[in-house]
Amino acid sequence: MAVPPLKNNCFAMPAGVEWTPVDDALDHIKSGLHPVVEPEMVSVKDALGRVVADTVLAKRNNPPMANSAVDGYGFAYDCLPDNDVIELPLQSGVAAAGIPYSGIVKAGQAIRILTGAIVPAGVDTIVLEEDIVFNDAETGIVFRSGLKRGANMRRAAEDFATGDAVFDAGHVLRPQDLALLAAAGVSELSVYKPLRVAVISTGTELVEVGKVARPDQIFDANKPMLLSLIKRWGFVPVDGGHFEDDPDVIREGFNQAAQNADAILISGGASAGDEDYVSKLLGNEGVLHTWRVAVKPGRPIAMALWNGVPAFGFPGNPVAAFVCALIFGLPTLKVLSGQSKTTIQSFQVPAAFEKSKKAGRREYLRARMNDDGHVEVFKSEGSGRISGLSWSNGLVELPDEALKVSKGDLVTYIPYTSFGI
Ligand code: AMP
Ligand code: MG
Repeated sequence: MAVPPLKNNCFAMPAGVEWTPVDDALDHIKSGLHPVVEPEMVSVKDALGRVVADTVLAKRNNPPMANSAVDGYGFAYDCLPDNDVIELPLQSGVAAAGIPYSGIVKAGQAIRILTGAIVPAGVDTIVLEEDIVFNDAETGIVFRSGLKRGANMRRAAEDFATGDAVFDAGHVLRPQDLALLAAAGVSELSVYKPLRVAVISTGTELVEVGKVARPDQIFDANKPMLLSLIKRWGFVPVDGGHFEDDPDVIREGFNQAAQNADAILISGGASAGDEDYVSKLLGNEGVLHTWRVAVKPGRPIAMALWNGVPAFGFPGNPVAAFVCALIFGLPTLKVLSGQSKTTIQSFQVPAAFEKSKKAGRREYLRARMNDDGHVEVFKSEGSGRISGLSWSNGLVELPDEALKVSKGDLVTYIPYTSFGI
């Protein structure tokens, strides 16, 4: 029998198979899924990173009362004489933050007022202390005209008012958001329980890090990577174990993971090979949408339900598993966790590389910005080159269409910070 020659396009996508564009796959994910976690009440102090489950309304005005924006002197604007240089006698007393002045400031007089102090009755305008001098007797202040009515004051509710919505459901709370909640008088709020995400590695050749590997074995690189991605994203990582390529063992692993987690990320065994039991199990015993997604690296990706729990089957190759986790895993987990914003911010930057690609699939290249503000790509596109993941600070996204990139052309760059890592 004649040995067939190797095909140049042995890594090309099989003809006659329909490949789903990345955007269609993402639209499908976003429209077909919904939050799977219950709401719970938490204190603002414990709310960092949590997803708001219900509109949050302000319980008070901000500021609650008019107060001074500066250290200075307050008076009634209407009593100012029509002179270039104005002198106002000082009324005794001080209005300070937390120590309101309880009297009334008489018309034509000024009072010492400090930043954050409630504006006393009789005052509607404040002059900055740097803008005054004292009169010779030190009984009054002297300053130039030109102040506007209401100068240097913060009006009550100028920021927000009682009943205003300060957050909508789906917002992920950041440190500055806790400041807003506190200012709004909110002490506890409804957030979604954190999404638990199990990570499973499959492959008879894999050895867990820390154990001894024979030369024919490789260390499981995906599990530490995927578990720590989940942690970074604010979800609860669940180690779902590592299983050899045996359908009975893998089935049991899936069952356990579905009990302990709200979503499952599986790597390895997702293709159609003899030992690829992940796709077979998900297809035969779960509900599988096999997406032959037109993406490099990354095909095929299995999206399925196992005992009702969403499960992803990613390629075992760590580069592909990483890219798939960012491009498909992150938006999915965001939706499942109750988050409303799933868009990823990208930037148009000039290329420091040349490349031509054919039409038919989107490509993600490991990339980083150089000191000249151009984006370079890793020297090899080989998806076995794990070192390129650590070399890179982001991904260059090349569109589904054919493209020839010349140096200086604008390309789409997505820094890893856009993926929350
Ligand atoms: P698979 O998707 O199972 O066909 O695996 C594709 C390639 O990725 C093979 O070379 C595997 O040995 C490798 N691989 C699979 N899982 C892992 C893992 N968890 N860590 C590192 N390499 C892996
Ligand atoms: Mg395998």
